[in-house]
Amino acid sequence: MLAELWGLDYLSTGKQLRRELKAGSPLGKEAEPYLERGHYVPDELVLALALEWNKRAEDGWILDGFPRTLLQATELDVFLKNQKDSVRALLLEVPSSELQQRVAERRECTSCPWTGTRTQAKASGRCPLCGGELGQRQDDDLKNFRMRLRAFEELTSPVAEYYESSQRLLRVSGAGTPEDVFQRITAQFNLQ
Ligand SMILES: [Zn+2]
Repeated sequence: MLAELWGLDYLSTGKQLRRELKAGSPLGKEAEPYLERGHYVPDELVLALALEWNKRAEDGWILDGFPRTLLQATELDVFLKNQKDSVRALLLEVPSSELQQRVAERRECTSCPWTGTRTQAKASGRCPLCGGELGQRQDDDLKNFRMRLRAFEELTSPVAEYYESSQRLLRVSGAGTPEDVFQRITAQFNLQ
């Protein structure tokens, strides 16, 4: 929604990795054991993906799910050189009970970029956009949820501190619907 509003290129590293996995690319094969277990994909793989993409992106971009570790954040800054000061990191804060609920509900289309909930997919159980088959993300098992939350606290919280210490962090409540969150984010950016 933000990429559309601002006319920016958009990359979800998580979604791209799962696409590479499905396509059986070398990167996808390397990432497979981590994706299957719901583990963080190693920095060098994620960096190769995100920075390679970044070279092709023009006039601004939104990176979703990246940087996820401190090393990824500092490498992104090295890559951006003096443009790094214009980066804003957006941290969406959601209570863990709501996250758990969302994980259980999430569905993705196997043929197009649609992502939504079981409820949005309605009774048909098929993609509302293209009628394609829906799947649950491999890393969505509830048993993985707590492990991923812990990994987030250990590995990604330092990323938030890193951007905060250089006055580049925006904290926004991620509770509620995508539209609610979208409104909050655009309001925050208008204040900048
Ligand atoms: Zn679809």
